[in-house]
Amino acid sequence: MIVAELKEFDEIREMIDRYSSVLVVGCDSCVAECAAGGTRETQLLASALKLSYLKDGRRKVITEACIDRQCVDDFIDVIAEQVPDHEAILSLGCGAGVQALARVYQDKPVIPALNTLFIGETVLRGVWTENCLGCGQCKLGYFGAVCPVTRCSKKLMNGPCGGSIGGRCEIDPETPCGWDLIIRRLTAIGEIDRLAEYVPPVNWSTSHSGGPRRVIREDQKP
Ligand code: SF4
Ligand code: SF4
Repeated sequence: MIVAELKEFDEIREMIDRYSSVLVVGCDSCVAECAAGGTRETQLLASALKLSYLKDGRRKVITEACIDRQCVDDFIDVIAEQVPDHEAILSLGCGAGVQALARVYQDKPVIPALNTLFIGETVLRGVWTENCLGCGQCKLGYFGAVCPVTRCSKKLMNGPCGGSIGGRCEIDPETPCGWDLIIRRLTAIGEIDRLAEYVPPVNWSTSHSGGPRRVIREDQKP
């Protein structure tokens, strides 16, 4: 899932200050799971903004809505009737959701309320970790489903650097060594022999280093 976090309140307020009416739109997918932009967070932010403007004696229409997936047009349509009544949209979606709203509602400013951080997973309540950089050529099969591109600080593909201490990365002792995790995992699944396989250099042209990417599936087109 996409992991994001709410921007500072003052930054959000500053960005919407110029508009007299704002539609605050949450997204009930990834950003709900990471407690940044789902229905609950949308309600809390809208209430805080209303209160803040009320305290300043300023009139501002703030309406809230939440849609299941901001990055899919079929879901975005749900707010179509509310959008014309507002000068701007404040999105609690990830960067993809913000840009999808801007593409669909071309005459409306769309403001991000979140900082989009990474692709990751929930490891326990309140803790999310990054585990995929979307390199475009997934090699998890070599590594017992632990990603060296993301979880090794040096992106090493053929073994550890040798600097790990106590299972921690030499770059940051707070971070588990990706290669320690890979070796433990390969051992656990009885595939430690995979370490003898040579993994060729990554072709970064399929990552974002090759520019913006897209997927075209003829079989999925209408
Ligand atoms: S190998 Fe690439 S696609 Fe697979 S998990 Fe790692 S970064 Fe993501
Ligand atoms: S200590 Fe481990 S995670 Fe850190 S750079 Fe070396 S091999 Fe990669």
